[in-house]
Amino acid sequence: MSASSNDAASSSAAEIAEAGPERVLEGISLSPGIAMGRALLYARASDGVEHEVINEAAIEQEVALFEEALERADRDLQRIIAISREKLGDDSTAIFEAQRMMLHDEELVTPVRRRIREKRQNAGYAVKAVMQQHRHRLEASDDEYLRERASDLADIQDRIIRQLRRGKMSAEVGEATIVVAENLGAADVIRFNNRGVLGCVSEHGGATSHVALIARALEMPALAGLPDVTEHVPDQAPVVVDGHRGRLIINPTPETVDRYREQQARHRRRRKEHQELVSLPAETKDGHRIQLMANIEFREELELVEQYGAEGIGLLRTEMLFLMRRTISLSEQMQYEMYRTIVEAVPGVSTIRLLDLGGDKMLPLAHREHNPFLGWRGMRVLLDRPELLRPQLRALLRASTHGSLQLLLPMVTHRDEVVRFNDVMQEVYAELQADGHAIEEVPPVGVMVEVPAVALRPDVFAPHVDFFSVGTNDLTQYVLAIDRGNDLVANRYDALHPAVLELIQRTVQGAHEHGLSVSLCGEIGSEPHALPILLGLGLDAISASPTYLPPLKRVLRTIHYANAEALAREALCAADATEVHALNDEWLRVHAPKTMDMRAENRLSSDASEPSTS
Ligand code: PEP
Ligand code: MG
Repeated sequence: MSASSNDAASSSAAEIAEAGPERVLEGISLSPGIAMGRALLYARASDGVEHEVINEAAIEQEVALFEEALERADRDLQRIIAISREKLGDDSTAIFEAQRMMLHDEELVTPVRRRIREKRQNAGYAVKAVMQQHRHRLEASDDEYLRERASDLADIQDRIIRQLRRGKMSAEVGEATIVVAENLGAADVIRFNNRGVLGCVSEHGGATSHVALIARALEMPALAGLPDVTEHVPDQAPVVVDGHRGRLIINPTPETVDRYREQQARHRRRRKEHQELVSLPAETKDGHRIQLMANIEFREELELVEQYGAEGIGLLRTEMLFLMRRTISLSEQMQYEMYRTIVEAVPGVSTIRLLDLGGDKMLPLAHREHNPFLGWRGMRVLLDRPELLRPQLRALLRASTHGSLQLLLPMVTHRDEVVRFNDVMQEVYAELQADGHAIEEVPPVGVMVEVPAVALRPDVFAPHVDFFSVGTNDLTQYVLAIDRGNDLVANRYDALHPAVLELIQRTVQGAHEHGLSVSLCGEIGSEPHALPILLGLGLDAISASPTYLPPLKRVLRTIHYANAEALAREALCAADATEVHALNDEWLRVHAPKTMDMRAENRLSSDASEPSTS
């Protein structure tokens, strides 16, 4: 059952009144959407496993129980792998395949046997002790990627212990419930989804965890980062998961339930309206055409590209493809197959960005920096590490023969980086020709405009590239000197700051003088209210998550290009971001009032009542 069709919290007013006062817990959103239902407190299988001393005579029997549990856990994982492959595709399934390998890893299972035999520990306790040791080592790592992998070990631990208890789950999950847990694993989410669970809430977990990736792919609203959530939520309490705002509402009042129902209904209506827009051209009322493209990260999102009317992929971040496979050294052949699937599936051009490591993205090379955002990132890493660049480039060039593909270079600062990249590409091209690959020509190459040095001097780069793509997420942080991921300064981070707008305009002007196009692929491109200004700056394309494209097209089709240009001119003269927003709001009120309504509705639905937040 999908979250948006979920009316599970159809609790009567009397029931709600009995349930106690409404409370709101603030966490982080792992997966958007709204789910309403009864809370189900989910205990992990390992909870309550105690230390027992085994009789001398029963030791081998205990070892045999452990071996059997391993076998059953393995079969269980094979089932999960089959479901995952069918629902999510190969990339997501790689997590479970890796878990299966861990299940057979002698470094993990031999110490368990040893503990049973030498310390006479019961199998459940021995499993828990060994896994905990390994987990603590991962959790103490400086590497965020390794820290998050600790949850895979917790998954395996639970899986074996559950089998030791002959498959009994600690809590039976039923349909139309919201699972509330201390910790959840990716496999739990798949299993819950299969049983009709509507949403998930957990104390621990991060936005880049596998739980988050899988919940998003299954369209299941999910939250994390709610301290002691299992103590705050009574079992069976009515709850609302607001996956848009990262909020959990316990014992919602009838008014809150109504508000969320309205929001669900509105979203359903919008979805319908948006479906009608998919086949219409992305043009203004006066016929100015731009391209609306899709930002994607997973192969599973490919079908959304066409479904939401994208004209192609404007940004495919390849980091996730690597992350899902838990390695940065993917073979050329494996990459070639991934890229080939992508270019063959996408109707227009596929813009594939080379591996953008560094900054907040895992860099699993033994490496630490004090200031990673100003450090070894993107193109800087690739040029220093040909063992990463060359296989990716070979795979991309080979895939380019199967469809329309263009390459995008991340985090470029110096012209020299593009020149050196082009040299490597020519070498790789010659090598491939010599190996017998019939590649007609090298694909077009674009640079990400993320560093002010590029935006200020696009003319320097233009002779060496085929297009530009403005990455406002990084450009804004580098122009304003505000960390894009730091909550303390988040309210000062604003991609509509006139200094950022000016750099976009300079890029567009410089590129157009050389006959090159400019697209924008930062998050601001997903905001319908920002579209008129961005359009007015002369951008040729906007790339955003597929689901955002219909609302963007809706705004585009209600406005005139000349008016948007006038708005952009005014915004460029504004003194600060506040002034830009004031101008923009006024402009939207006159030229696209529905966009204002949409913003107001969203604010209303999320903030209308602000009950006690704990
Ligand atoms: C950007 O910086 O705007 C961008 C699209 O790249 P990423 O968010 O992957 O850094
Ligand atoms: Mg970036």
